[in-house]
Amino acid sequence: MKNYLLLVAVIFINILSAHAAVQEQAVIPIVVIGSGPAGLTAAIQAARLGYETLIVAGPKPGGQLTGASAVENVPAVDVLPGIDIIKKMEEQARSAGAEFLEGSVTDMDFSSWPFVLTLDFDKKIQAYSVIIATGSAPRRLGIPGESHYWGMGVSSCAVCDGFLYTDKKVAIIGGGDSAIEHALNIPYAQHITIFVRKSRMRAMHHMQERIRGYDNVSIEYNKEVLKIIGDGQNVTGLEIKDGATGDISFFPCDGVFVAIGHNPNSELFKDHIQLAHDGYIYLGTRSQQTSVPGVFAAGDVADSKFRQVSTATGTAAQAGFEAVEFLRKNHILDKAHRQ
Ligand code: NDP
Repeated sequence: MKNYLLLVAVIFINILSAHAAVQEQAVIPIVVIGSGPAGLTAAIQAARLGYETLIVAGPKPGGQLTGASAVENVPAVDVLPGIDIIKKMEEQARSAGAEFLEGSVTDMDFSSWPFVLTLDFDKKIQAYSVIIATGSAPRRLGIPGESHYWGMGVSSCAVCDGFLYTDKKVAIIGGGDSAIEHALNIPYAQHITIFVRKSRMRAMHHMQERIRGYDNVSIEYNKEVLKIIGDGQNVTGLEIKDGATGDISFFPCDGVFVAIGHNPNSELFKDHIQLAHDGYIYLGTRSQQTSVPGVFAAGDVADSKFRQVSTATGTAAQAGFEAVEFLRKNHILDKAHRQ
């Protein structure tokens, strides 16, 4: 009888500790929202430091870099297509132990801790810390015709849609690196005209050099696009205003690519953490911590200035370290010390 009671007590204790372990396991130490260069780098750092790290991949796994034809300014990396860089980062994240979840975060509760994240289909997960790396999305012009012809001749993705314009006339609007990147991704167009609103491009010198040798690319400066015009089904041209003379003219073309910069993907978080006046996530000085302790942000969603792969990965590595530091301070043990 004594032995039996002892056995029951042992089983009960085991159940309790197993239950505690399950409870503990149920809260994920680090959840990274977004799977672009920032999300993947944050996950690599966090997972290598021994914490379970889950990446919620988001609506566009790999992020915007997947569309870049050639990335030249990542240290120690030869010129590579963006998708190749992303694949390597994904492999690194997996081999460091990070896990991936397809889908998106749709809501969150940062008012109590552990945090609660709601995913598609109302699935909820708990997290001791969160790293937001949702990047940014292409900006729109907001001019007449843009919404109507979006997907019917107007696009912001030359990698996706450039092949539609073989032997056709294309207009690209914008003067940054993206505008040039778009031109490079429509190699078979009959002619490409880049419309720049100022008297010079904002694109980096080396990017401008890359299109110099292309006979089928020309650049029009001081040109404001007022309207996208079509026959109801297809784009037929643009209404253009000359910034110097004020003259308005019609420019015939078959396709239009809008490449005028990006907006941070921060809308989802606006009621939960502090945003800066321009919509980017507000961070402390020299820290990736947001206004909520335990919630960090990295990459384009919190960077209105540099927006490079190397700066995104730099801030993400820092966010990964800071998340781990936060967990340690709050006595959340890493895998090795939990056994
Ligand atoms: P940028 O913000 O660098 O440039 C936006 C361009 O669009 C500017 O020329 C701007 O004009 C123009 N613009 C903005 N609003 C309007 C409007 N309403 N009408 C007409 N023109 C407008 O954005 P990008 O998307 O080009 O680049 C974002 C970041 O991504 C940058 O840091 C860039 O370096 C990086 N990138 C790197 C690439 C690579 O290395 N391969 C490829 C693509 C992007 P204005 O100058 O007058 O403000």
